This record gives sequence, C-alpha cells and structure tokens, in this order.
Amino acid sequence: MSATKYIFVTGGVTSSLGKGIVAASLAKLLQARGLSVTIQKFDPYLNVDPGTLNPYEHGECYVTDDGAETDLDLGHYERFLSTPTSQANNVTTGRIYHTVISKEREGAFLGKTVQIVPHITDEIKRNIQLLGESGKYDIVITEIGGCVGDIESLPFLEAVRQFRWEMGPNETLVIHLTLVPYLNAAKELKTKPTQHSVKLLSETGIHPDILVCRTEHPLPTDLRKKVALFCNVNINSVIEAIDADTIYDVPLLMKKEKLDERVLAKLKLSNKVEPDLDSWKIFLGKLKNPTSEVTIALVGKYVELPDAYKSITEAFIHAGAMNECKVNIRWISSETLLKDNLEYHLRFADGILVAPGFGERGLEGKIAAVQYARENNIPFFGICLGMQCAVIEFARNVLGLKDASSTEMNKDTAHPVINMMESQKNVTMKGGTMRLGAYPCELTKGSKAYNIYGKSKIMERHRHRYEFNNKYLKQYEKEGMLATGINPETKLVEIVELKDHPFFIGSQFHPELKSTVENPHPIFVKFVKAAIDFSKSKK
Ligand code: GLN
Repeated sequence: MSATKYIFVTGGVTSSLGKGIVAASLAKLLQARGLSVTIQKFDPYLNVDPGTLNPYEHGECYVTDDGAETDLDLGHYERFLSTPTSQANNVTTGRIYHTVISKEREGAFLGKTVQIVPHITDEIKRNIQLLGESGKYDIVITEIGGCVGDIESLPFLEAVRQFRWEMGPNETLVIHLTLVPYLNAAKELKTKPTQHSVKLLSETGIHPDILVCRTEHPLPTDLRKKVALFCNVNINSVIEAIDADTIYDVPLLMKKEKLDERVLAKLKLSNKVEPDLDSWKIFLGKLKNPTSEVTIALVGKYVELPDAYKSITEAFIHAGAMNECKVNIRWISSETLLKDNLEYHLRFADGILVAPGFGERGLEGKIAAVQYARENNIPFFGICLGMQCAVIEFARNVLGLKDASSTEMNKDTAHPVINMMESQKNVTMKGGTMRLGAYPCELTKGSKAYNIYGKSKIMERHRHRYEFNNKYLKQYEKEGMLATGINPETKLVEIVELKDHPFFIGSQFHPELKSTVENPHPIFVKFVKAAIDFSKSKK
C-alpha cells in the first residue's frame, strides 16, 4: 500500500465547468488541514506541450520554475496553494505518445506489438505515480482534461480504471464534475445531463465517488436525493458548486458543502484538524471591501481573449486586495493604438501595462503606449515584450536612434537594441527551446526594483528568445534608463527602470507567474500602489 492517496477529477456534460478551480479549491482545503497536496493536469491533445499553441487556442501558456510550458490551470494550482508545480504536473497525450514511441525506436519493446493498452495506459499510470513516488505528498489530485465521452480521453480513463483496481479500496477517489442546468422556461433545474454523464463514465468502468454539480441556483434536497439515487452515490456526496463572484470564493463554498470531509472519509484519512483558512479569509475580506479604485490599461494583442493574460489579471486581483483597491482592467488592443488616438484611449489610465507577446502585429501600438506613459508620468509596467518595447521606445525618442527595433520584428534594423540571445542563434526547433523557467537576478541597491523587492537576490521565470543588447547599455544609463536587475552569470538585463519617473519598470521575466493569493507579487503590489497615488494626484 502506498502512502500517497490519489484523487481524480473528471468532467462531463460540457467543458469549462471549472475542474481546475474545483481541484485547486479541494487541494487548498486539504492543505489548510495540514496535508501536503499537489495537483497535476492531463491534457488529451497531441501537442507535446502547449508552448507551441497560439493563446487563442488554449489561453496563456504557464511556465514553471523548471521551465515547463504548461496549461493555464497550473497557474490556478500555484495561486491557490502557493507551492510550485513542475513538468510532472502537466502531461499531454502528445508527451505520453512521444515517450512511448521514442522507447519503441530505442528497442525497449523489441518483439512486442506496441499498443494503446497496455503501453500508452502504462505510461499514463507511470505519470500518475511520478509525483506520489517523490514521497513529498500525502495526496495527488489528477485533473483529466476534456469531457467524458470524448474519444481522446479514453486512454486516460482506462488508465485511471486500472490504477484504481491495482491500488485497491480507499486509496483512490474519483470526483466527477457535471452541470445541472436551469431551464428558465420550465423554471426547473434538470438532472438528466448529470445522469447521462455518470452513465457514460460508468461505461469506462469508473464509478464516481463524489459528484460536484455546477449550477446557477442552489440544489434543493429532493434534487440531491434524485441525483444520488440515479447516479449511485451517497446523498452527502452530491456537492453543489454554485456560480461564485470570484474563483477565490470556491474553497469556502466547497468547505460549506463539506467536500473536504467527504474526501477524507472516503479515503479513510482521519484528519480532525479544522482547515486554517485565516489568511485566505483576510484576502477575501480585502478583495471585497476595497477603499479605493484604479483603472489599468492593459495593452496587448490578444485582448479579445482575457484567458491569454490569465496570470496577469489574477496578479492584479492579488495586488489589488493587498492595497484594498479595486483594480479595473481596460483591455486595449495594441493594433488600434496610433500616435494620434493615444490620448483618447489612454486618458483614463491610472497605470499602463504593456503585455508580453510575440511577432510584429501590434508592436507599434505598444511602443506608442510606452511613450505616452513615459511622457505623462503615468505608472508603467512592461513585461517581457512590454519591457522590450520600453527599450525600443527609449532608443527612438530619447537616444535619437530613429530606426531602433528588435531583430524579432526587423532583422535589418540599424540599431538592434533588442537582439536574439546568443544561446538561441543555432536553435531550429520551436517546441520547448526558448529561455524557459527560473533564473537568478541581482538587483542594484538603492534602485526602484531593489526597493520593491526589499532584497537584492531574486529568482524569476522567463520565456523568451530576445534580450536587451548590452552594447547600448552605457547610452541608456547616461540618459536615465537604468538596468537595475542583471543575471549574475550571463549579465543579461532582466529589469530596466527610469530614473526620473514616478514608476516605470520593465521586466524581461514574467512576475505574474509567481503571484499567489498568499504571496502577491511585489512588483504588482507596488504598481497598483503607484496607480492609486497617480489617481489621487489627478483629483
Ligand atoms: N517575443 C519576445 C522574445 O521572444 C518576448 C517574449 C514574451 O513576451 N514572452 O524575446
């Protein structure tokens, strides 16, 4: 018998029911009882990781400390648990097949026919156990992406079925998330889709232990009874997941429904400690009772899909709560920004954030937004490409290098102030080859960056191929754009800031990836503070 217990979260009826949030909320409750928990996500698509996907396809690509490019749900896991995830926490069908087929080529299965069952399912089971075997966790929660009934989920469900059988009773648990729709015309909540979804799951040999029912209205007792009877679960295992004002309410809603107690009882874990959610509640109190309000202009090219900037918007929620301030995000498509409409689009902004990104589309609009922030003393924060735009803008408008650009956008620029990193020049493959993951950075004492962090040694996560061109550093520093965060080994510039501006910071790394409810990121916290001060100064 293994010491680690395993919980699987499946979904039915529709996608987007919030499996990731339910998994993260349950993990939070278990963690708050003193258990050590991690969450992994299985994604049933063929890309080896989401790093090669356009954000429109799958939202933001979340990067872990160990440099894995992963699904955005891992961001939720980290934001809820404040513990880091890694490559082992996100596995796609593509990665599973890649491993099995590479082994086949090595001759590992010589003489055998390589098949979905057992070879693919064995590899899935190996990945389920990987985190448990580390000995670090009491509980591993595995979220199975997609919906039951999808062809592509089948190998995962078969692996879960086998795994459960092999582990024996009380070692594993399946939570199935479904939808109980409300038919307005009939003024009724309907259980049939849930019944069908459970039936479909049962056909794979998996019977759910707990049903979590997404709903817009409270579930009355008679409806819970009906679901329990028709779906073969205990009535107290029918859990209501009502729409919440914020995802951060969900742990408390799940606690009210006793999801954690049901899980512990079913896994025969005798944990009598009440969850300690004090800091979580303090955060929620501040989030819901702001004493001020600011508007941040978020300038990017994927603004039609807020999921593309998920970690940024969540980091603003954490930083807003810390400042007891409501942060409104105004999404501005960088393609619509032109020099002569900047005032129209940005006049309301108490702070301007230029977002990360790739490619030429919308670049000039981003550069124009930087200029507007710099010249009007509006708090500015540029992340990755946003920082690179700040560097380009400064070259063009302050250093007088009119043609300055990044070689990503203009290979032949006379002034490549942003240049491809040396280490990237011979890279030909696209997947997983950027500068990825956590790297150390040293901050200059007395700088704005140093004051923000309150220390000189930091670690932040990266995802880029281009960098500040150090040949120009002296010119920049002479005119007041300072490189105040440097990688101690490679000397890459990780932070730039303006000497004579109330708040103007560009980071080559992605601080948003490390902001959590319990540890809001200091740059976001201070950026919101600067926006509050700026908004007061306008009155
Ligand atoms: N396209 C830029 C680079 O590769 C910035 C990347 C980003 O914003 N994540 O360097």
